[in-house]
Amino acid sequence: MSAIVQHPHTHNDPHWDVRVDLAAVFRWSVKMNWHEAVANHFSAAVNEDGTQFLMNRDQIHFSRVTASNLLLLDANDPQTMELPDAPDPTAWGLHAAIHRNCPHARVALHVHSKYSTVLACLADSSMPAIDQNTAMFHDRVVIDGDFGGLAFEEEGERCSQLFSDPKKIVMIMGNHGVLVIGQTVAEAFNRLYYFERAAETLITAYMTQKPLRVIPDDIAAQVADDLESYPGHAERHMSEIKLLLDRDEPDYAT
Ligand SMILES: [Zn+2]
Repeated sequence: MSAIVQHPHTHNDPHWDVRVDLAAVFRWSVKMNWHEAVANHFSAAVNEDGTQFLMNRDQIHFSRVTASNLLLLDANDPQTMELPDAPDPTAWGLHAAIHRNCPHARVALHVHSKYSTVLACLADSSMPAIDQNTAMFHDRVVIDGDFGGLAFEEEGERCSQLFSDPKKIVMIMGNHGVLVIGQTVAEAFNRLYYFERAAETLITAYMTQKPLRVIPDDIAAQVADDLESYPGHAERHMSEIKLLLDRDEPDYAT
């Protein structure tokens, strides 16, 4: 038996479990020092075609996000930016475009975390496989080299088109940051965690100025496949995070 806490469904909300998971990911991102003042956004689709999604409110610190204060938005509602609770316009531009155009991207997490952003600032933002974590992303990263300014609607539409290949699960947004997608909050968060770790290892390796020991493509591809289907890892990562938050800051799940 695993010790997964069953959060009480005190709020009569059909998306409560997704709300709790997404709130947990915001809180944990603060612990990882991935937050950026009161900017950056995470979103999770809740309806079948993925066009209705939860997202954080405009300019609320990640450490104050709770399950119940997430916005529920409709990517096809042109009136969204006129609502009293209108989201941040760049978050709307990017996340609504993804949820409208990429039904396989149920969850989208965007941060300017340190090492992923350093990688996004290099002329060559590719991630050679040099350890298990970097190999995890073999052939799964799309690099956007056409930074066009803040992600208002046009830039968001352009970025969302880059996820048309369903194999790509991470976008290195050149001159900007990183965007990770997944089927569930647990899957997307686990990917973001490993991508930032992989970027840290790669950037640190570059700083030695010694030649890299690059893993051959066929081995890297096998490692990536094996890790992607590793049973239960992302879900256990998520449930452990929630157990720690239940102990230290349980209001995330309210
Ligand atoms: Zn950004």
